[in-house]
Amino acid sequence: MLSGTFTKPSQMIVALDPFFSSSNAMHYIREYVDETAAENERLQNLTIQKKNDLQNEDAYRLELLPRECKIEAKSVKGVFYAVQTLRQLFLAYPHAIPCCRLEDSPALPWRAFMLDVARSFCPIAEIRRIIDILATFKMNVLHLHLSDDQGWRIISDRYPNLGEGASGRYTKQEIKELVAYAQDRQIMIIPEIDMPGHFTAALSAYPAFSCTGGPFTIPNGEGIFQDILCVGKKESLVFVKQILEEIASLFPAPYIHLGGDEIPLNRWAECPNCQNQKYLLGLPDEKALLRWFCNEVTSYARSLGKQVLLYNDYVNQAYDEKIIIQVWNPLLKVTRSTHPVIMSDYFHTYLDMDHTLLPLLEVYRYGKRLQKKKDFSLLGSVFMLWTEYIVDREQRDLHLFPRLIAGAESLWTAQEQHKYHRFVKTFSEYGAMFLPSPVHITPRKLWNTCFIVFALQRYKRRKRVKRNSKQAGITLF
Ligand SMILES: [Zn+2]
Repeated sequence: MLSGTFTKPSQMIVALDPFFSSSNAMHYIREYVDETAAENERLQNLTIQKKNDLQNEDAYRLELLPRECKIEAKSVKGVFYAVQTLRQLFLAYPHAIPCCRLEDSPALPWRAFMLDVARSFCPIAEIRRIIDILATFKMNVLHLHLSDDQGWRIISDRYPNLGEGASGRYTKQEIKELVAYAQDRQIMIIPEIDMPGHFTAALSAYPAFSCTGGPFTIPNGEGIFQDILCVGKKESLVFVKQILEEIASLFPAPYIHLGGDEIPLNRWAECPNCQNQKYLLGLPDEKALLRWFCNEVTSYARSLGKQVLLYNDYVNQAYDEKIIIQVWNPLLKVTRSTHPVIMSDYFHTYLDMDHTLLPLLEVYRYGKRLQKKKDFSLLGSVFMLWTEYIVDREQRDLHLFPRLIAGAESLWTAQEQHKYHRFVKTFSEYGAMFLPSPVHITPRKLWNTCFIVFALQRYKRRKRVKRNSKQAGITLF
């Protein structure tokens, strides 16, 4: 424990290691530092040094002495996170920061948030605001759910009818700028094009890629819809590959999410083209046809430099071993797997749920639960916001705050340092200061609920998940 406090300087001087000065992201870090200094007039000397002995790229050391602040990091990411901590300290101690020395690094490398922009379009300015918030709380992945039954949100050059006439689409230029904005804030954007199910929006624009030929209309509300991509037609497979090429070229992240969830296979069972494909490949049933399709697109995505993520509905050991499984359905057994895993358990990360079904405490506990798991290769977690019923900023904010911030802390902070009551106290005091105004935060009295209401709500929801899974032909244990 160091004595003394960090005192006000008359001028800030930043001494930057030449290793960092060439980084594109450094001017954003300087902006954060300048903003901090202008508001607080406290930084006199800020020394930023490269150190290779830190345990990973995200790790940093931060030392505050009476007249000097030192940051040590291995990469720009570490510097960025150190500066975020510095900003938080300035807010928490408006008059004088107790001198301190700390070394910090994330407990889990994959700290993600999924925003469903397919069901409800989210304007670019709003996504930028969300990116700012994710960066403040040291999250590093934004997963954009760009297509579903209810919408297709990226303008395609080859297939311009996709998403046409809908409530909103992003141009390629907008996406490029958004990706750059996120990169500067150390956030990787991963695009998701859900297939071969959750595909009605694409089929309504191009019904020839379905088994029946359509016509289709874009549905409203939630549900599992029967019409899916036909995998027995060559043109459907060409379509998928060309879309993958366009998406892969827009997002520099080495990952792409291809959904693969909730796929009713009835159409394939009735489709002569799909049945012929199954026969030619010597496959026993439609599930094997699905596995073939997923492995095909995974292999094609790999040729474009992308590793594929899929939801855990159907993936097993016969699927390409490089596929990252996103485990969302808690009713599906997660066996020891050679696949890398990202967890997004329905009952702990679905922030679109009401607080009676997903109380704050359950979200906060999730990171600790994951950190204890040792039986599969866990990368991290993603907190999810589906938007069938969440259509504007106020509703979005109320679902996200404070639960998303609790989730971010639980993934970054080592389990032995998890303290729920500290989080509640700190967020109550300072949380709103970190969130761009105007912001809507769920009132504290609603953050948790009584156990009986919670248990009843959860029982009802489990029944619904079971019903949906059965409808999609998913075997539960
Ligand atoms: Zn078909």
